[in-house]
Amino acid sequence: MVIFRLSLMVAGIIDTMNIAAPLISWQRQHGRHGLPWQQTRDPYRVWLSEIMLQQTQVSAVIPYYERFLASFPDVAALARAPSQDVMAHWAGLGYYARARNLHACAQAVMRDWSGAFPSDAAGLCTLPGIGPSTAAAIAAFCFAERAAILDGNVKRVLARHFAIDGDPTTRAVETRLWEVARAQVPTQSMLRREPDAMSSYTQGLMDLGATVCGRARPRCETCPLQKTCIAFKAGRTEELPWPRARKALPERSIGMLAAWHDDKLLLVHRPANGIWGGLWSLPEFEVSLGTAAGCRKAGIDPVEIQPLAAFLHTFTHYRLTIHPVLVQAKTLALPDTGAMQSEWVELKALAGRGLPAPVRKLISGLQADALL
Ligand code: SF4
Repeated sequence: MVIFRLSLMVAGIIDTMNIAAPLISWQRQHGRHGLPWQQTRDPYRVWLSEIMLQQTQVSAVIPYYERFLASFPDVAALARAPSQDVMAHWAGLGYYARARNLHACAQAVMRDWSGAFPSDAAGLCTLPGIGPSTAAAIAAFCFAERAAILDGNVKRVLARHFAIDGDPTTRAVETRLWEVARAQVPTQSMLRREPDAMSSYTQGLMDLGATVCGRARPRCETCPLQKTCIAFKAGRTEELPWPRARKALPERSIGMLAAWHDDKLLLVHRPANGIWGGLWSLPEFEVSLGTAAGCRKAGIDPVEIQPLAAFLHTFTHYRLTIHPVLVQAKTLALPDTGAMQSEWVELKALAGRGLPAPVRKLISGLQADALL
C-alpha cells in the first residue's frame, strides 16, 4: 500500500512537472533548424538521418548524409544498390551493422511495404535496424504520432530532470525512463491546438541533450527546464545519470599486412557478419606467428618485410592492438584467402573502397610517409 501511494505521488509529481510546453517554445526559438534532414517529412530522409545519428555526432553525419542522398536519392535506389556500394558510402562512420541493416531495411520496404515506409511507430519497429526510439522519432517527425523517444541524450535529460537514480543501462532503470518519457509527450489537446508540436517536442529533446544538458558541465543557466529540474535544485547534475558499471574491455591483437606491388595494394573483402563486415580491409595474421610466417600464411611472397609501430583501436566490446607490417610482394599473384575475395587495388582507386577508419588511417599515414 505504501509503495502504491508512493508511486501515485511520484506519478503526480511527474505530471505537474511536464516538460513539453517549455521545451517546445524553447526549441522554436533556440533549437536547431538548419540541419539537412530538417524541413522534410519524407520518411526516407528522416530514417536515414536517425540511423546515421545513432552514437554519432551531427557534424560527422552531415557529409555522409549528403553523399548518401546524392547516390541513393530514394528508398528504391538504396534497395537496388549493390551492398559493396552501400558499405563504401558508410565506411568511416563506424558501427557497420547499421549500414547492413539500412540496406536490408530499404529492401524490406520495397518488398513488404510496396516502397512506402509504415506510417506508425509499431510498423516501423518491424523493420531491420529500427528500434523503439528510432521508430518513435520517425513517426513523430513524419506522421505527428504521439510516440516517445529515448536515446542516450534523452536518458540523460530525463534522469537529471526527474532525478532518476541507478545505472540507465539496467532494465529496471530503463523501464522507469520509458515510463517517464511516455508521460511527457505533448497531450492530444496540445496536438489539436498545434499540429507540429510533436515534431518540435521531439527535436527539442534531442537539441537540449546535444547542446545544453551535455554529459559534462550542463549549461543549466540557459535551460528551459531549469525551474522544474530536480538535479539542478539539488545540486546533483554532476552525479546524474549514474555512470554505467564499466567492465574492463578484453584485449586482442592482430597483425595486418600492407602488401604492395607496382602501385597496387592487396585488399580482402570481409565477410558480411562480424567486425567491419562487408568492408574491404588488409589481410591479417596471428601476431604469435611472427611477420615472415604471417606473410607466408597469408599467401604473400615477400621481397621485403618491414614491421611498423603498433597502434590501438577500441571497439565497444574489446580493444584491438594492430601490428601493421609493410610488405613488398614479388608478384601480383592473388593469395588463397578462402571464402574472402581478394584484389590488388590501384593506390589511387582506394578512395572508392569502403575501408574501416583505422585501416584507412594506416594507409594514409604510409602514403604521407611515401612508404606506399
Ligand atoms: S537544468 Fe541543467 S541538469 Fe536540468 S535539464 Fe536543464 S541542463 Fe539538464
